Amino acid sequence: MTKNILHDDERPRACCSKSPRVRPGKGIRDLPPYPFSHWNERCRARVEQGIDVVRLDIGNPDLPPPVAVVDAASQAIRSHHNHGYPGYRGTLEFRGAVRGYYGRRFGVSLNADTNIVSLLGSKEGIVHLQHALLDPADVVLAPDPGYAPYAAGARLAGARVVRFPLDSQGAPDLGAISSSDARRARLLWLNYPNNPTGHVVESAVLAEAVAFAARHDVLLCHDAAYTDVRFDGCLPSSVLEISGAADVAVEFNSLSKAYNMPGWRIGYAVGNPEALRLLQLVKSNVDSGMFLPLQRAGAIALATDEGWLKRRNSVYQQRLRALASVLTGVGLEVTVPQATHYLWVPIPGPETAEAFAIRLLDETGVAVAPGTFFGPGGRGFIRVSATVPDERLRLAEARLASWRAVS
Ligand code: PMP
Repeated sequence: MTKNILHDDERPRACCSKSPRVRPGKGIRDLPPYPFSHWNERCRARVEQGIDVVRLDIGNPDLPPPVAVVDAASQAIRSHHNHGYPGYRGTLEFRGAVRGYYGRRFGVSLNADTNIVSLLGSKEGIVHLQHALLDPADVVLAPDPGYAPYAAGARLAGARVVRFPLDSQGAPDLGAISSSDARRARLLWLNYPNNPTGHVVESAVLAEAVAFAARHDVLLCHDAAYTDVRFDGCLPSSVLEISGAADVAVEFNSLSKAYNMPGWRIGYAVGNPEALRLLQLVKSNVDSGMFLPLQRAGAIALATDEGWLKRRNSVYQQRLRALASVLTGVGLEVTVPQATHYLWVPIPGPETAEAFAIRLLDETGVAVAPGTFFGPGGRGFIRVSATVPDERLRLAEARLASWRAVS
């Protein structure tokens, strides 16, 4: 049975210096730790007490990548030609595979030279793009709730984050952004299918965001990391399907969720050539490109057939349904989303999301993520991820079945 794996980098680091020279720089003085790092510590403490914690908090896919991907990587790593510096922008083969994928999946035509940049995971690009484009007084518009690196990247660049709410259907409430914030804004972040809510939006919603970006002269940054974790014929759109989007938008994408490859760190950004050129300028000073065997395997992954995706997605959907039925049984109101491997669940009663998640962890050994990890807009919610093997899920379900959600 798969048990918890605790990585060394999740262990707390002892403070090793009291030197006044070693102090946080201005850019990170107010930067909160990544929300999951504290939570990892809490889970680890329970494991050290002998509790077999089931981790439904982190979205770390447990299923394997397509076999052809692993074969391609292991073959490529055996060639002595593949161990040098790989070049900065991504190999022609990798960028060509991204181009092919966008053509087949979205009907979007990309220029492999100007519209595509490879990333060491999309999180890296999400942060570095903001270094490339922001000045200290700038405003970054970010969804609330939303993936933490949008705000963290903006803060690292010294910019100010203005959060805007999502409506009950998960669409961005752009009308809530004041005209003075819109005037100062340089970037607008959106993410569909959405983490943490699981919502998908009609392409008309993306079209409105493109129009907003054009009107206010901001760059629309769309994060499409979950675009291929989808159920029942749902086919989430790329923002680049919207006419004129390449003038005002970049889209981030990732192999982590699409092909079960989170540890490989393969992502890419597509869209507006000038934004990508500036992102590349920052990256060429920070990293030295993606290991060639990874790019080879990434190119194979991007050609994965719909049948493999369907089979993988049906595993997630069955898990989500099973979890939803157990959570419903303990008194929670749960909807299975059309995409992503998450349930976004309102909690009953006056408890804070964090207090609820801690009580659940302490009383059942099942870890879920408090909604506030995704911003104040996550108040009153937990996020539950269906990314553990079925036998771990059964264990979580058995423990939850006799638990009461209302304290
Ligand atoms: N965007 C969203 C919304 C995510 O949830 C994640 C990972 N959890 C990422 C981007 C980053 O993915 P990666 O860096 O693995 O490509």
